[in-house]
Amino acid sequence: MTQTAISEGAVKDLGAQFRGSILRPGDGGYDEARKVFNGMIDRRPGLIVRPADTADVQRAVNFGRANGLLVSIKGGGHAAPGYAVCDDGLMIDLCLMKAITVDPGARTAVAEGGVNWGEFDAATQQHGLAVTGGRIRSTGIAGLTLGSGSGWLERKLGYTVDNMIGAEVVTADGNVIHASADENADLFWGLRGGGGNFGIVTKFEYRLHPIGPIVFGGLLAFPREKAREVLRTYRDFIEKAPDDVGGAAVLITAPSEPFVPEEARGKPAVAVVVCYTGKPEAGEQAMKPILDLNPVVRMVTPMPYVAVQSLLEPGNPPGLRNYWKADMYPELPDAAIDALVEAAANPPSPLTAVIVQPIGGAVHRVADDATAIGWRSAKWALHVLGMWPDASEDERNIAWVRNIASVMQPWRQTGTYLNYLMDEGDQRVRESFGSHYQTMVDLKNKYDPTNFFRMNQNIAPTGNGHR
Ligand SMILES: Cc1cc2nc3c(=O)[nH]c(=O)nc-3n(C[C@H](O)[C@H](O)[C@H](O)COP(=O)(O)OP(=O)(O)OC[C@H]3O[C@@H](n4cnc5c(N)ncnc54)[C@H](O)[C@@H]3O)c2cc1C
Repeated sequence: MTQTAISEGAVKDLGAQFRGSILRPGDGGYDEARKVFNGMIDRRPGLIVRPADTADVQRAVNFGRANGLLVSIKGGGHAAPGYAVCDDGLMIDLCLMKAITVDPGARTAVAEGGVNWGEFDAATQQHGLAVTGGRIRSTGIAGLTLGSGSGWLERKLGYTVDNMIGAEVVTADGNVIHASADENADLFWGLRGGGGNFGIVTKFEYRLHPIGPIVFGGLLAFPREKAREVLRTYRDFIEKAPDDVGGAAVLITAPSEPFVPEEARGKPAVAVVVCYTGKPEAGEQAMKPILDLNPVVRMVTPMPYVAVQSLLEPGNPPGLRNYWKADMYPELPDAAIDALVEAAANPPSPLTAVIVQPIGGAVHRVADDATAIGWRSAKWALHVLGMWPDASEDERNIAWVRNIASVMQPWRQTGTYLNYLMDEGDQRVRESFGSHYQTMVDLKNKYDPTNFFRMNQNIAPTGNGHR
């Protein structure tokens, strides 16, 4: 399919009904619109449409189907493999669909598919409410939620999908359906972890919980020489910690900022992110085992939950080159920590980070078959997040990230969190749904038999409609 395959006449007809905006190659704003978070992705859709509402999304889907186009859906554009944007085909960019309605009495919220976590948290925190959400404000609620949704609140509230109570979905045939525990319950099950495989979610409905607005949060950092001790202590501490203790340990390079002691600046370090949602004045005591390790950076204090949600942003600017690996571990024994610390000793880029993320608390109290997630019982996730500015450094950075994944292979389980992966192919997707995979294929055959929605961690349909 080439750009010229989208006929002018068809675009004109679409434009006559469309309430949102339409961008063609060469139009002002086209190049900005096709950008995604990962600067390695440089694709040129034949047409970009920005629906104003659900009816526009239906028009876009019908247009894509009628013209035989490859279709990509953009929520926040954060998927590292760049699924939000396609070459030559139709990009449906939800960025105009930003409505958020919070019902503080019922403790629920409804948000449109183009909302990001910064916008969502700002709206819900006005009422002292929240749901587990992304750790960077510009991440879309759509892709994050559909992939399951991990955040600082997950030990207390479960994954984002554990708090999703309904969805409005435009299916591949252009119909609008509602999915919840009572309507299209099979689709509702599959949406909670199945990525964008089944349709375009135009509205997400969430159950909210009282959080903050002030929590005890911030960052601690230690010299990398202490990484083994810090990681072991953190592991032993958090596996038994109350659900209110959220956070992660991160192997980073200390920034050259005034709050970092001069001798530590620009050197490898190990940080601990803290998000404690109990009484803020109890935070120091709750984090005592880690504070007792004498961090060289001790920036923990009562602060707004929305400030914790932006703590990692200085280290994650958009538009740089990204290459990621992600695995999950049933346990994190000392030998695994030692191997990780050694393999991650000399990161080739100061922006590269290795996030050692505890999974537990409320996440483990949800039944394995309650949602599509296939790896819920894992206790630890490792997210190796390679990030660097220059294409000439691609090979070195990618090799470094791959080496860590390969060194850690003896301890990993087969399935992993698909939202953290680059495109690793069908087998990894299959493994990650585990025993749920066949049900996912059955749902794909039912809701998207032609694989119309395939710019995602794809579940290939097996029925007659398969392209
Ligand atoms: C800087 C950064 C920080 C991150 N932090 C976290 C984190 O804290 N927790 C976490 O769990 N993940 C995190 N992620 C991973 C994130 O969850 C995934 O990248 C997710 O896919 C992002 O969603 P999006 O809407 O921004 O992405 P997009 O690239 O727009 O979309 C991702 C996928 O979802 C599909 N999709 C998008 N919108 C819809 C829709 N409305 N209906 C159906 N399908 C749709 C797309 O087609 C694509 O396949 C982070 C990613 C980045 C880059």
